[in-house]
Amino acid sequence: MASVRLKGVYKRYPGGVTAVSDFNLDIEDKEFIVLVGPSGCGKTTTLRMIAGLEEVTEGEIYIGDKLVNDVPPKDRDIAMVFQNYALYPHMTVFENMAFGLKLRKFPKDEIKRRVHEAAKILGIEHLLDRKPKALSGGQRQRVALGRAIVREPKVFLMDEPLSNLDAKLRVQMRTELSKLHKRLGTTFIYVTHDQTEAMTMGTRIVVMKDGFIQQVDTPQVLYEQPANLFVAGFIGSPQMNFIESRIEQKDKNLYVVFGNNAIKLPEGKAKKVEELGYVGKEVIMGIRPEDLHDEEIFLQTAQDAVVDAHVDVVEMLGSETLLYVVVDGLNLIARVDPRSKAKAGDKIKLAFDVNRIHLFDKETEKAIV
Ligand code: ATP
Repeated sequence: MASVRLKGVYKRYPGGVTAVSDFNLDIEDKEFIVLVGPSGCGKTTTLRMIAGLEEVTEGEIYIGDKLVNDVPPKDRDIAMVFQNYALYPHMTVFENMAFGLKLRKFPKDEIKRRVHEAAKILGIEHLLDRKPKALSGGQRQRVALGRAIVREPKVFLMDEPLSNLDAKLRVQMRTELSKLHKRLGTTFIYVTHDQTEAMTMGTRIVVMKDGFIQQVDTPQVLYEQPANLFVAGFIGSPQMNFIESRIEQKDKNLYVVFGNNAIKLPEGKAKKVEELGYVGKEVIMGIRPEDLHDEEIFLQTAQDAVVDAHVDVVEMLGSETLLYVVVDGLNLIARVDPRSKAKAGDKIKLAFDVNRIHLFDKETEKAIV
């Protein structure tokens, strides 16, 4: 069983930095868990504590059913792949991959079998006799992965393993890592600051900020139901638009009001907002760029959810177009159909998809609906 469990884990460094606070997480066997968050949020520290490279100040870490707080890294049945993959330059690919097994005194035949099998999985069999300097970045990264695979660990720990690759290769390796995860059927714990990487590979994602877990869920739930303002802004690119607003009641309906605009809330959301006592209160409205529409069909059907906008910049990306607009002095981004006719300088109308509006408490920043 390659489950990993963290219970009330803290890491305090000498000098007063608390890098990780009250970290609780149950990682199930065969999960691909991604820890994501901005620089300094404690991702690497968490991973290093799981690896045993960093002591736990408080709390417990289990791998399978075993408490590993005092177990040295080499006995934890894990393998770690770093951003800086540090291959031995004087050794061939085969020797690099075999090195760890040799140290552990594995029989020669077994080493050969494991290296060839890993090389086959990674598509690098033809490179086994080369030295690292004769490899591309992507090939080197595969060798680093191979070195971890041959150990046949219960858990793979990866710290930004793709960050030294160029953009195109990174995208390709993302797919390969997902496939590798399925093929190996082991638990992956992966650290990145890149939310796209997290969203494309993680079966579950842990969003962290300032050492605290903000939300743990599947990519879809994080995107559709962010628990707070931070997660809402961190997941998604371009990021969610935030608008300081107020909830007002008029003829039994509830409106989200900002500047001269009033967006009518649909019944379900209105009911919840009223029950939770937000009528008359200040809130932060969130709307994703793709939920703002400039097409006639949306404008006609959207009732009480259309605003006047001034187009500042148009970015045509091929499959979609981004409109940078100003609404009542606020800068918003709309992701619209690439056939949109909007041009910089135009005055247009934008419809809010009211079913996709998010509202956040202004003080706690927690999601209301
Ligand atoms: P990045 O994406 O930049 O690597 P991270 O989320 O992985 O960031 P950590 O490296 O875990 O963050 O660092 C978390 C916090 O702990 C930071 O404030 C960092 O400065 C601090 N920290 C990390 N290592 C040490 C150390 N050895 N001594 C003191 N403080 C440390």
